[in-house]
Amino acid sequence: MPLTRRHFINKSSSALGLAALSVTLPSGKLFADHHQNSGKNIGIALVGLGSYAMGELAPGLRKTSHCHLSGLVTGTPSKKERYGRQYEIGDEHIYDYDTYDRIAHDPAIDAVYVVLPNSMHAEYSIRAAEAGKHVICEKPMAVSVEECQKMIDACKANGVTLNIGYRLHHDPYHDVFRKLAAEQPHGPAKFVQTEFAFRTGNPDQWRLKRALAGGGAMMDVGIYCIQAARYTTAEEPVAVTAREYKTDPVKFAEVDETIVWEMEFPSGAVAACNTSYNYRAERLHVGYRDDNFEAELSPAYIYRNLKGRVGSEPLDFGNPPQQSLHMDAIAQSINSGVPLTTTGEEGMQDMRIIEAIYRSIANNGARTPINT
Ligand code: NAD
Repeated sequence: MPLTRRHFINKSSSALGLAALSVTLPSGKLFADHHQNSGKNIGIALVGLGSYAMGELAPGLRKTSHCHLSGLVTGTPSKKERYGRQYEIGDEHIYDYDTYDRIAHDPAIDAVYVVLPNSMHAEYSIRAAEAGKHVICEKPMAVSVEECQKMIDACKANGVTLNIGYRLHHDPYHDVFRKLAAEQPHGPAKFVQTEFAFRTGNPDQWRLKRALAGGGAMMDVGIYCIQAARYTTAEEPVAVTAREYKTDPVKFAEVDETIVWEMEFPSGAVAACNTSYNYRAERLHVGYRDDNFEAELSPAYIYRNLKGRVGSEPLDFGNPPQQSLHMDAIAQSINSGVPLTTTGEEGMQDMRIIEAIYRSIANNGARTPINT
């Protein structure tokens, strides 16, 4: 019998191999609250109308209850016309990168969602904060810890919230792993194996240019493994060891191709991870101390069709609308003043770990402490 959202909402998981795991999942609650309106409906402007913004976020904003698409920022005139018409956004709410700061005077825009190449995240987030707008910024938060700190400071100084696009913080499949870590019905997680990799196509894309991407597969999808290792153990890593393997030094001249790394946690738990731009892999597997218990997801990190099991029980939450849930949660957080788990500090912690991984690679795989 597959585990479904209803089992968690009904607190009836005890009979399903999850023993003491009995508290309602946060995402379960969010599902239930999703269509109850309270507070202002938050207007969000998307900045950078590329594949994620227009393939997932804009359609996702059609399914939200607490926020809506209210502005567009693009450097491409044809996109202004096309998406303005498609999403019924008036010309007065459409900006380019030169007129961007005028959003300060646009009351329809409460928050901006930065969906630009990684090295542009800091600048466009800080400019949004200075315009008095709440900030949502895609992962990776920026390309250095220093930039992350500047973003956090700018949002604090301007009294606006900062959230990172960690959509899996509102995904019920991943919530199961958080609950297993928090409640430990099978003891703590002892070993995490996780990988997220895909084969990149176009050799001219920004993802392969250091100045725009900041790094390669690690910055792009390896970050999901770092996130998962942190929330499946509910611990912060103390050290990493990492190696990079490059089989195509022409295509990957500027950024990392494949990285294999380990993360050590204070309890003794270990995470073994890999990421790449040169093969397909997507899995999360956690082994727990007690009961010969293990749990896994595969695929683990995509937008839809996640599959997994806890012990011998298959997980089935259907296809939760990850982006809509995340954006609704952010809108509710803006209204309530209660922060989510997707803060700037959360994004900066991942960047600290990424910087340690790159330092380890530069030192031939030496064990490298994480700077705190
Ligand atoms: P994309 O290439 O499809 O879109 C990037 C957009 O930025 C394009 O509209 C492009 O025109 C614009 N742009 C502005 N200045 C540019 C410049 N100098 N060079 C290149 N493009 C420029 O990329 P994407 O896949 O939509 O990724 C955008 C961001 O979203 C990245 O930070 C990525 O990590 C993140 N992302 C997150 C998820 C997720 O699941 N959370 C998924 C995909 C992408």
